[in-house]
Amino acid sequence: MLYTKSEAVDEEKIVRFYISAGRPQNLSSIDAPLAHGTSLDWGPTQPHAGRVRPAVVDDSLLRRWKDGCLKEHGGTCDQEFMTGRVPRLRFVDVVERCIVEAAPDTVIWTALSYCWGGPQLHSLQRKNLDDYRVPGSLTDRILPQGIIDAMRVTRGLGERYIWIDSLCIIQDDEKDKLELLAAMATIYAHAVVTIINAASDKVVEGMPGTSRPRRAQQVHQMKNFWLVESLDPVHDQWRWERGYLHGTTWNTRAWTFQEGLLSPRCLVITQDQVYWQCKTASWCEDSCWEVPADKAIYRHYSGSNIMRRLTDRTEENWLTLYGDVLEAYSKRGLGFESDRLNAVQAILDVLRRDGEDGYFWGMPRGHMEMALAESFQNHRKSRRECEAMFMGDGNEVQSAPFPSWSWVGWHGVTNMKSIDTLLGGRLGLKFYRITSGPGLEALVEAPFVGPERDFSPFSYMKWEGVDDDVIGYPRGLTHAIVD
Ligand SMILES: [Zn+2]
Repeated sequence: MLYTKSEAVDEEKIVRFYISAGRPQNLSSIDAPLAHGTSLDWGPTQPHAGRVRPAVVDDSLLRRWKDGCLKEHGGTCDQEFMTGRVPRLRFVDVVERCIVEAAPDTVIWTALSYCWGGPQLHSLQRKNLDDYRVPGSLTDRILPQGIIDAMRVTRGLGERYIWIDSLCIIQDDEKDKLELLAAMATIYAHAVVTIINAASDKVVEGMPGTSRPRRAQQVHQMKNFWLVESLDPVHDQWRWERGYLHGTTWNTRAWTFQEGLLSPRCLVITQDQVYWQCKTASWCEDSCWEVPADKAIYRHYSGSNIMRRLTDRTEENWLTLYGDVLEAYSKRGLGFESDRLNAVQAILDVLRRDGEDGYFWGMPRGHMEMALAESFQNHRKSRRECEAMFMGDGNEVQSAPFPSWSWVGWHGVTNMKSIDTLLGGRLGLKFYRITSGPGLEALVEAPFVGPERDFSPFSYMKWEGVDDDVIGYPRGLTHAIVD
């Protein structure tokens, strides 16, 4: 079997073909262990392309991917992210077809990441909570196809429980919402598999290859060889960012940003094929990469390296990573702008380093001056005019408008890293705490300690829309002006 870069080009799209010396076989019949479904051994097969995937996904392949990861990758693919601990979580029991509650360490669950595509008529509400707890209550009649399919895939993976936001959070209970939002890292990072429906813009559409068959893969016989259509996305030196999820709505939504990043094992449903991605390997239907782990090929699901940097940031400039996370996140769309902070909170919590103060309205307390500078830099944006819900000190739900001094108070793309580059970590602001007595108490804040850069004696700062450079502050003289 040969791999070729031959491309038949028309005006609209590139179709690539694999050349096969013999008649290409169906995926299920090519891999003997898969057909028998009993062995986890990947077999002696060398990696090859040109498998013809069936119209409907073969559950035994999905199960084999999951079992192979759990068995062969050991703890490498486990995620250590854990934020708010919750004593109990709700899950959908796909066997009894109802909502159940259980302590997170007593069940194994899959999680669903998908696009809502509008209001969810079936969602869990205070009024139907008791009804949905009754076995058999979650019928195909009340559930959208995308959720029915996710439950089917969960069963196919050999699992019984799945976490789905619309059914496991009481949607009209703000307190329930806020408590579970704080546990989001736990929910996705500790799911055995996250099922990502990247194929559908709306949950009512369902998943290709489960409830609806996928289109036939092109197979052409030439004289002495066969051409099999490649389902792999175009990815080469110049177009590497065009991963499987390029152009999908899933990859543009705000909530799915942290759902994808937090999940250590993803089963991604795309229009044309299903692929597996864990922290060690990436496997797909139309190419055989199920080889021992030391030969596995790794490709990130979005072409981004944020996930790797989140899990291994020993060399990381923290502020740069924080800025990159915000920049990527702020480009994504959201159904309710009031969720703008909630939908990234789990990632910010994961980013938080031991012993640091955490965040205030999404701004790092330890780098507040840099974060404030970013907010003022983006003065052309329009304000995010809505109220955010949060838990008060007395464990009661409160709301307040997004503040103007935080990135979250403004629409538009947040770009923070340029500040670090331009000023070399020194801005010259000093903070005071208003005390109950007379006067102000000066706060001693740790100056930003990033890697030293070879700046000229003065740093320069260029404001958007202003022609002249503005002189910054001399290196080594923190707070020289304000003091
Ligand atoms: Zn793995």
